[in-house]
Amino acid sequence: MSETLQWLALARGTLDRVAERRKDDAWVEAAWADPRTRVLVIERGQSLVHLESGPALLLLSPTDVPDGDRYLLGVDEDGIAYFAVAGPLPVIEGAEKAGIRRVGALLDDQDSGLLTHAVALEHWHTTNRFCPRCGGPSELAAAGHVRLCPADGSEQFPRVDPAVIMLVEDDDERILLARGPQWPEDRRSILAGFVEPGESLEQAVAREVREEVGLSVRDVRYLGSQPWPLPQSLMLGFFARADGDLELRPDPEEILDAAWYTREELRTAIEAGRIVAPGPLSIASQLIMRWYGGELPNMPPF
Ligand SMILES: [Zn+2]
Repeated sequence: MSETLQWLALARGTLDRVAERRKDDAWVEAAWADPRTRVLVIERGQSLVHLESGPALLLLSPTDVPDGDRYLLGVDEDGIAYFAVAGPLPVIEGAEKAGIRRVGALLDDQDSGLLTHAVALEHWHTTNRFCPRCGGPSELAAAGHVRLCPADGSEQFPRVDPAVIMLVEDDDERILLARGPQWPEDRRSILAGFVEPGESLEQAVAREVREEVGLSVRDVRYLGSQPWPLPQSLMLGFFARADGDLELRPDPEEILDAAWYTREELRTAIEAGRIVAPGPLSIASQLIMRWYGGELPNMPPF
């Protein structure tokens, strides 16, 4: 298991992010004035979506959107610019509010990338209004990709929290699935946790597995990543081989149930309704399917 994952629901963006244009005010204003420009309105992680056709994001002209913070998301291969505006969602017939959890896996590649980028920036701006150096209010800059403190000139960049998620396999091709404390009784997934300061990704994988279920691992290998702006993570997917004693000692504060599954046992448990596996939005589902060798039965649409 070494080839990286091919399809990840939230890692499919297709636009050129044109980072070199973000501080070019004349270029940004000209793009905003261009009637071909498309705008995604974003409000608390939700946008307007046509559910019947696709689904697909409802993109508006710059003249049709509410006032609000503007984020330059990128440019497509035809030279059309895409922005997000943070503001109240207009009422438009045939369109519904939806967020990443509902449509992130169902949108096409470009729309999935637009929504993921916009949701991440909106959350960051909403929760980082003050300068961490002096405490004064900061201002949006660089077309939404920087916050600038007018008092001391310091710049803040959008924050992303790395988290590792790992498929742990034993020497008999069984994988470890567990239930987190807040999850429904039948929900199972692979282990995951945030990277701590001063540790590598591989060290984080080994530490989390040891803390959560008391196992040692070896042969830790990277398999792919996707942004997870719910609210601000980057999920880094790994494979790890259980090493030595296979007895599971779950930490009761983090894990309510943990067990080893063969492919047959997992298929049977899902088909019997005893287990609900992660949906296609998550990198967890793609890691499990890589091991399983195809789609799991009863896969939910998102
Ligand atoms: Zn400051």
